[in-house]
Amino acid sequence: MSKISRRILLGSLPVGAFALASYRPQSSIAQNSSAVVNLYSARHYDSDNAVYKSFTDKTGIKINLVEADAGKLIERIKSEGANSPADVIITVDAGNLYRAQSEGLLQPVRSRLLETRITANLREPSGLWFGLTKRARVIVYNKNKVNPSAFSTYENLASPKWRNKIAVRSSTHVYNQSLVASMVVSIGAKKTEDWVKGFVANFARSPEGNDTAQIRAVASGVADLALVNSYYLPRLIKSNKPEDQEVASKIGVFFPNQGDRGTHVNISGAGVAKNSPNRAAAIKFIEHLTEYQSQQIFASSNNEYPVVKGVPIDPVLGGFGKFKADEVSAVELGRNNRIAIQIMDRGGWR
Ligand code: FE
Repeated sequence: MSKISRRILLGSLPVGAFALASYRPQSSIAQNSSAVVNLYSARHYDSDNAVYKSFTDKTGIKINLVEADAGKLIERIKSEGANSPADVIITVDAGNLYRAQSEGLLQPVRSRLLETRITANLREPSGLWFGLTKRARVIVYNKNKVNPSAFSTYENLASPKWRNKIAVRSSTHVYNQSLVASMVVSIGAKKTEDWVKGFVANFARSPEGNDTAQIRAVASGVADLALVNSYYLPRLIKSNKPEDQEVASKIGVFFPNQGDRGTHVNISGAGVAKNSPNRAAAIKFIEHLTEYQSQQIFASSNNEYPVVKGVPIDPVLGGFGKFKADEVSAVELGRNNRIAIQIMDRGGWR
């Protein structure tokens, strides 16, 4: 932590402070440019700092950390323009990485290490971004109400048998947009739109809250099942609050589409910024994030699956079982984001 010279939580600052925060680092960040990486990250897990520290210990290169959600980071880099000090951008969800790509904020990188360690579907082909961790969008269900043998696919969740039984967050969230984009790729726009309509007809309530709120709704009986990213339940299982553990104890996990394309998987990932002042160090840093120990920490800090093969999975997450993942290219999730949003709009998914 001591080596991390600057830690700015843009998301928690008022507007005036945002302006201040976006100027101060530039003067200090610009110096010593051969020995720093300016990291703009939408990940915000304290244990990630151990990965940054091990990079500094190994290379002498300091990490200047700027934290904010993806939308704010993208806006900030755009407004900084050609003078942006950003070297590396980290966001969650391929939809956000694709957005940074579409805004022209990233530059292509060739790295044999990254191309060997990360399977092709989890990185952008020209090297604009690279997946670092994986998360599955799973069905969670109330074990007292549902026998998991009733589940099969995402498509099946449009069946009338689930009427008034499903909780899910808003269609404005990129996790759902990427899921729908993955279905557009697999089954086509028409079938996906029909599915959305049937799925929405089964909602137990109008979408509200984040993925954790959906798990709580299932535990409390508001809904029988929900779609959530795979790391939310482990957070509750590992929570030191008895009420969280109580919620978690009622919940089962099901991986959909095991008989065909596999469960929808998304990534967190990193790319080198278009105007990176420290390009070589930036590439070295992203390579560092794919090393065995980094992958272990990076994945376990948020209960995610490592992208690099052979790295052990957190035992709580691993306890949900092995599953077949949909191997659609993460780029396609971004490319189909716009049509996914249109389909969700027309399907009435608020
Ligand atoms: Fe999340």
